[in-house]
Amino acid sequence: MSNIINEVKLDFKDVLLRPKRSTLKTRAEVDLYRHIMFRNSRRTYQGIPLIASNMDTVGTFEMAAVFGKHGVFTTIHKYYEVDEWLVFANENPTILDHVAVSCGISEADFQKLGKILAAVPGVSFICLDVANGYTQQFVDIVRKTRNTYPQHTIIAGNVVTGEMVEELILSGADIIKVGIGPGSVCTTRIKTGVGYPQLSAVIECADAAHGLQGHIISDGGCVCPGDVAKAFGAGADYVMLGGMLAGHDESGGELTIKSDGTKCKSFYGMSSLTAMKKHSGGKAEYRAAEGKAVEVPYRGKVNDTLLDILGGLRSACTYTGAHKLKELPRRSTFIRCTQQVNPVYSNIAAKE
Ligand code: 5GP
Repeated sequence: MSNIINEVKLDFKDVLLRPKRSTLKTRAEVDLYRHIMFRNSRRTYQGIPLIASNMDTVGTFEMAAVFGKHGVFTTIHKYYEVDEWLVFANENPTILDHVAVSCGISEADFQKLGKILAAVPGVSFICLDVANGYTQQFVDIVRKTRNTYPQHTIIAGNVVTGEMVEELILSGADIIKVGIGPGSVCTTRIKTGVGYPQLSAVIECADAAHGLQGHIISDGGCVCPGDVAKAFGAGADYVMLGGMLAGHDESGGELTIKSDGTKCKSFYGMSSLTAMKKHSGGKAEYRAAEGKAVEVPYRGKVNDTLLDILGGLRSACTYTGAHKLKELPRRSTFIRCTQQVNPVYSNIAAKE
């Protein structure tokens, strides 16, 4: 007999934030900065807790240079070499506290992590990233990383349930990345049937993490600034974005110009065939690609997109009466809805 959880679990699209009376006069009064103290590293973060994903099309040095100026964070992808890190660190010495070095689970990844951290001691964040954070091997790697780097802040994931959030925090991680299957170029749910609706995953995982003074990142599934506000409202300490940051000058991926003159940029999942061909020389026969490749419209400078997201977030705080981003979960009441937006002009491109 199968076990079935009958309680409905929700995605961002299933809810809206209820407006509340507020004493805020203007959205300029809203403070998006957070001051976060980490459980295991004992270090602190001061900044806007939005994160550019460590995908190789998103977590670029160019993205970090723009985001860092606004106090926003980037998990740099793991394919840069030590010399490239050195150039970045020399050119951007003031934003090193807004970037993390990403690392997979192979011994080669771990060795490279050591070299980067030795060459760029100003970086104090490590992002340990695997598609499936549920394996004992991953828990052991989190432990080993904590032992090797006792004073670095460790991000680890991905998981979607409270018990695994607790296990990773107790094994030495400070921030747990939450999300299996919600990503814009992810096909895990199609290939495996595995996943968890993202809003509910965030609510449940935040509760588990906060009980241990740990923190979480809501990773994946945001398609508009309103989703970012909902993720914070659900209790995420950080929100990580991939697709919303694709297609810009600062994004990786190839720029192509179509015969009608429109510009596009490529964007692909890190488990897509495209990524595997690029970084591992192809796909091993025993595994399936769990990501796809798409072409997205070229969107110019990411600075404009970032300001749009931050503006939306400030406005969400104003509507709900949260003076600071930190207050948003306390001010958030979610209303289940059957229609999030009016679809009447949805297939006509907006002019502005
Ligand atoms: P998005 O913001 O685009 O909805 O989601 C971004 C997140 O999707 C990333 O941070 C990462 O966790 C996840 N992701 C990226 N590439 C892949 C992939 O190929 N497969 C899967 N399952 N998830 C991916």
